[in-house]
Amino acid sequence: MPSARKPDPNSVLRSLPSVDELLRSTTGKDILASGGHRHAGDLARHVIRELRRIVVSGGNSFSSKSELLREAEAVLLDTWKQQQLMPLRRVINATGVIIHTNLGRAPLSDIARRSIADEASGYCTLEYDLITGTRGKRGRLAEDLVTELTGAEAVLIVNNCAAAAFFVLSVFAAGGEVIVSRGELVEIGGDFRIPDVLAESFAVLKEVGTTNRTKLSDYENALGENTRMIMRVHPSNYRILGFTETPALSDLAALASRKGLVFYEDLGSGALTDLTAFGLADEPVVGSSLAAGAHIVTFSADKLLGGPQAGIIAGKATYVDQLRKHPLYRALRVDKFTLAGLEATLAAYRRDAALDEIPVLRMLSQDARKIGERVAPFVAALEAKREGREGLSLEVIDGRSAIGGGAAPDVELKTKLIALDHNGMSSSQTEQMLRQADPPVITRITEDRVVLDLRTVAETEEHLLLEILSAL
Ligand SMILES: *Cc1c(COP(=O)(O)O)cnc(C)c1O
Repeated sequence: MPSARKPDPNSVLRSLPSVDELLRSTTGKDILASGGHRHAGDLARHVIRELRRIVVSGGNSFSSKSELLREAEAVLLDTWKQQQLMPLRRVINATGVIIHTNLGRAPLSDIARRSIADEASGYCTLEYDLITGTRGKRGRLAEDLVTELTGAEAVLIVNNCAAAAFFVLSVFAAGGEVIVSRGELVEIGGDFRIPDVLAESFAVLKEVGTTNRTKLSDYENALGENTRMIMRVHPSNYRILGFTETPALSDLAALASRKGLVFYEDLGSGALTDLTAFGLADEPVVGSSLAAGAHIVTFSADKLLGGPQAGIIAGKATYVDQLRKHPLYRALRVDKFTLAGLEATLAAYRRDAALDEIPVLRMLSQDARKIGERVAPFVAALEAKREGREGLSLEVIDGRSAIGGGAAPDVELKTKLIALDHNGMSSSQTEQMLRQADPPVITRITEDRVVLDLRTVAETEEHLLLEILSAL
């Protein structure tokens, strides 16, 4: 409350509550109980320091001791509440971006989740062979499954595709030259840039061709004494359209083999099956790249494959075995949670159940009509639940979902969006309210309206979303 005359800062400072006084207040006691002594003490000290700073700078309007204590309690509670939003938490992704990197990329299948929680969380057979009762090989089943699903001779699993690329380049190209087309010197989100990864692996980049056209002869002309590798990169998150040319994979493979070089393809997304039916005609299928002659391929497990974060290296046994024995593997290998999730995900492909069980593929395969069939009863249920309450108006509109995750930037999946208008709140206030719900609901704002896309909301989450929206 502003007062006519500013109180004397020195007398106000004397009235500031002590840390103990603040912790004995109602708010202080609550936070002590749930946050623990040390943490509550740190927070209280921080709040009082802040108040002191405000008072000294003359920016306060408090005078009485009780007013100061109340203010301190309010700031303490606010700080505490904000901290409660910090931990890693589940969210409902209503953005319609299927592989949302900020939201943890691929949501796992039910079986993968159970396997992580029930099989991997305690003692498990991570490196133990139940048949012989002796030490077993980490990741064996996951590797076997990838081998079976892609036709690779051998497979190795590391932390992510960036680690896989770095590993392959460091081991097979350090000190030598790697030939890459100028059309493939891409950046995949923030800090993964092909020229930088090459430099970090102590390989020398030899760029050939032009941004839009690179011919087999460009590669041939660039070969030299120091050439170790021909590298091909799937441009993932961008496309060059129009007057373009790039040699066939099989021609590059033949050239590399003839010259005794490694032919490596960084696939990025790692589709295990052909996704052309869902509009993803440009996404290379891992098995096809290997069949066309790539010696080594790398891809992510948490993009189109739909599993946990991991990087998969697949290819010729002579190369993969060298990587397995390399000391760097120890620093890049994955843990038991990843392997449990990955095994379960890959097993769904083997059972031919991937489209039903793996959320990324299930979301991808729903067309606008199917989404519409979910949206209509959802909106009806929401309207029924809000019966008689003012404020929220709903409209179903046509829109687009996105693949995300640096895959298929030109593919837009038609969808049905639920647009929300709240007559007491701006769209950004509504968006924030939903973001701070429990569980948080992440939405987007289009043309000043909050829109929700049920494509990325699991059917099992709909009831939760309904509760949250009906309370708006
Ligand atoms: C996404 C991507 C990467 C990085 O993969 P992470 O699993 O995120 O490390 C590397 N290369 C390509 C071509 C990609 O698309």
